[in-house]
Amino acid sequence: MNEQIAYIIDIQDIDMNIRKIEDDEAKNIHEINESAESVKSQNEKLERLKNELLELQKKINLCELNVESYNGKIEKYTEAQKQIKTNKEYNAMQKSVKDNEALKSLEEEEIIKTMNAQEEIKSAIKTTEENIKCLSDIISNKKAEVEADRFKYCDVKKNLLNKRKELEKTLKIEFLNIYEAIKNNNKFPAVIPVNNSRACTGCFRILPPQQFNELLSGEIFMQCPICSRILYYKQDMSEMHSDVANNSEKNKTKATKKTKIKA
Ligand SMILES: [Zn+2]
Repeated sequence: MNEQIAYIIDIQDIDMNIRKIEDDEAKNIHEINESAESVKSQNEKLERLKNELLELQKKINLCELNVESYNGKIEKYTEAQKQIKTNKEYNAMQKSVKDNEALKSLEEEEIIKTMNAQEEIKSAIKTTEENIKCLSDIISNKKAEVEADRFKYCDVKKNLLNKRKELEKTLKIEFLNIYEAIKNNNKFPAVIPVNNSRACTGCFRILPPQQFNELLSGEIFMQCPICSRILYYKQDMSEMHSDVANNSEKNKTKATKKTKIKA
């Protein structure tokens, strides 16, 4: 392989490692932000549930006041019944007592219904609080992980960048500029192998045989005419395996031949 291309591949390997570190960092930060968003929405939900609980309590208080008022009326009518002389008046009073008892009973049913609703909300509050606690723990752990990684990867990145600087010295500046331009154009990897089918593995354009042969010579610096990536030849692993198989088959009958494999 062309020595200059080999340097570019080494630089690209370094860039890939740095990018992976940065992607991992960004992924962790994204996860922290997502969890923080969830905490925010869970807190809003918690606030809403607590308000609902308060409203239900107000309703229960009102029902209890009504029950008290109906009790007062029932007591008053029952007391009044004792003073009544005629059946008609007694029956009218009895009806008032029963009417108020019925109304009181409706209020009491409402109290029970509302208390049941309160229990459901209390349970939802508990679940929401547990979710918030769980999410907060995730955030704390992730933050600690990010902080530890920052220290760990700081040195790794520094070493990689130093190695890159050394490689840059051995690489022709025009090749480095081409590599950087392709990379900055969001075509990463910028150096890419052409397989045995003569295809650029970046855009899958098939190279003309002449161009492919030039590439095989390893003497020239070539870019893909379609995606502009820097090309080098690399035999497919699957093709290598089938070559090995074919060769071992041939070897049974012929003298050992060297397989043409280029790195
Ligand atoms: Zn291409």
